[in-house]
Amino acid sequence: MSTPSPFLEPEIETASRATLTGIQDTRLREQVTHAWTSSPFYRHKLTAAGVTPEQVRTLADLPRLPFTTKDELKQDQADHPLWGTLLAVPFEDCLRVHMTSATTGRPLAFLDTRDDWHGFYHCYARSLHAFGVRRSDVVMAAFSYGPWIGYWSGFYAAQDLGALVFPAGGLSTDQRIDALRTYPITVLGCTPSYALFLAEQAAKKGIDLARETKIRLTWHTGEPGASIPATKARIEAAFGARAFDLPGLTEIAAWGFECEASGLTHVHEDYCYPEVLDEADRPVRPGERGELVFTSLYRKAMPLLRYRTRDIVQLADRPCPCGRTLVAFEGGVLARVDDMKKIRGIIVYPRRIEEIVRAHAGVDEFQIVFRRVAGLDEICVRVDPAPAADRDRLRDAVAHDLHVGLGIRAGVEVTEPGALPRFDHKARRVVDERTEVPF
Ligand SMILES: [Zn+2]
Repeated sequence: MSTPSPFLEPEIETASRATLTGIQDTRLREQVTHAWTSSPFYRHKLTAAGVTPEQVRTLADLPRLPFTTKDELKQDQADHPLWGTLLAVPFEDCLRVHMTSATTGRPLAFLDTRDDWHGFYHCYARSLHAFGVRRSDVVMAAFSYGPWIGYWSGFYAAQDLGALVFPAGGLSTDQRIDALRTYPITVLGCTPSYALFLAEQAAKKGIDLARETKIRLTWHTGEPGASIPATKARIEAAFGARAFDLPGLTEIAAWGFECEASGLTHVHEDYCYPEVLDEADRPVRPGERGELVFTSLYRKAMPLLRYRTRDIVQLADRPCPCGRTLVAFEGGVLARVDDMKKIRGIIVYPRRIEEIVRAHAGVDEFQIVFRRVAGLDEICVRVDPAPAADRDRLRDAVAHDLHVGLGIRAGVEVTEPGALPRFDHKARRVVDERTEVPF
């Protein structure tokens, strides 16, 4: 009897470095030539940087290429509506359109050809396979039916593996809970915030999802919560299942997956080549952190070269025992450059606050408020307690742990149970009430 392979594509996942580099070099040349030839945005950008495709032969030539930022892409679409000058294929060759989630202004619209779209969901399928999803599974992708790529790619990826996919896009939370109890759904995909919301709603009705459903694994995307140990532990306890983090980016790919063998995050580097760069844009060494910069090696409608993700990752300094040779990061996305806050000279990331607050079982939900009082910056963490929690003890314990963990004092307010907003997609837990940011 043969054991089922942990790898969907062993020829890539366990390839030698020389083989992978060969694939990457070839695809890089194709992409740079394609962008130069067919994308007015890149023709202009590369010309301005004095680079021609002939000068980019291997990965070692990447630093010759200028960076691309999301602001540039948004400006391009604003100046040249609707799709911008980035578009490098005839419009009629496009099969899919998705939108990034926008906090300000019009969201970025992203187009894909048939092959681009296959690449996006196929690397996602490789991730699901690595988590243990198989064709015998029944999968619920509990995301809304909208222009967010995370829903569609997860749905197509599960189908790509031959799993039976249960469509839940238009269902309410109550209907989803009912479906999970009724049908033999073994795998659930959703944002980490929604997983916790679902569990909380079920608990209110006296339903124990860990005991009353067949879910054996969950995956989480859209936010880094499943890579935060305290949040992951909560999700695993609520569903009685293993939870996995799947980082992705509309503009690049469902680019990686948390490896069950080690907790490292592998990158689908045949689809998107990662650079991890320090503040001076030099590659970091293994074990060090830096900004993740991706060059797409497959997408033709909107090919991105050296795209600054604003995500901070840490290059692993240990091999993964799973046998994959794909490059790996320690943990998932550790921080967003844009989420960094400076409070009285100390740098604070909301993710760190989540790590601390979620470790308290008495906290059902929380909110982080940055405000300025009498000229001084302050952090206030509002915690929404579980109904049975001892409010005074909870406030003192969270305040103590925040002081130790952050190195500065943070105010803690305990709200009435259920007072804070819950989230069925990506959470917005940070409120910055300061009018100006003193950097
Ligand atoms: Zn691994």
